[in-house]
Amino acid sequence: MRRRLIAGNWKMYKTIPEALALVRALRADLEARPAACEVLVAPPFTALAAVAEALRGTPIAVAGQNMHWEREGAFTGEISAAMLKDAGCSHVILGHSERRHVFGEGDEAVAHKLRAASDSGLAAILCVGETLPEREAGRTLEVVERQCRALDRLAPEDVERCVLAYEPVWAIGTGKVASPSQAQEVHRHLRQHVGRSHGAAAADGLRILYGGSVKPENAAGLLAETDIDGALVGGACLQPASFLAIVRSA
Ligand code: PEP
Repeated sequence: MRRRLIAGNWKMYKTIPEALALVRALRADLEARPAACEVLVAPPFTALAAVAEALRGTPIAVAGQNMHWEREGAFTGEISAAMLKDAGCSHVILGHSERRHVFGEGDEAVAHKLRAASDSGLAAILCVGETLPEREAGRTLEVVERQCRALDRLAPEDVERCVLAYEPVWAIGTGKVASPSQAQEVHRHLRQHVGRSHGAAAADGLRILYGGSVKPENAAGLLAETDIDGALVGGACLQPASFLAIVRSA
């Protein structure tokens, strides 16, 4: 059985004191009433160590929002898998649409990162998703399948440790959410693709999250779909009340 995962991508929000206030609120609530699902937060790099320390001893996982594929070197402004682990991360988000579309990250770079994350023991959350013109041209399934090929370089047991996140670019931060059936169609397709590339066990075990304007009001409908195993939440994860409401709906 796949355990649901609700992950919060904080993007470039929260100073260290703000980050600590948010995780302390999450921790207090989830200690009083443990969540039925797994919960993860992805703060900005500057707050990772403080957040990991504040969450020590809790089941709430911490993720980086990006990383470089090299172990170390002259890569100004970059951060490695070893550094994320050093700061207390167990996971890393890779190929987020803002990395792909604002910073020009291509499939090849994302595949290198995925391989490096897997080799280092970090669990990757690999984001895939089509733009609006791609959806309107009927290319959604072809685009997400191409982005998903980053998994091809991993062994089936490593794929099972990864998480996929389907995040249609047109739904991220826009308030436009994919309908549960639109999301389910893509999730089912992704699972079938992984079944063909890595076998049925890897496909059955792989968690596929939906991301794109998930809010307390629409989370339950999305999570009711068979192949939607959780959510990657942006805007609604920045306040404890809205993030916790989504966690409770899982
Ligand atoms: C995201 O950043 O991954 C995301 C899904 O953002 P939002 O929930 O704000 O659309």
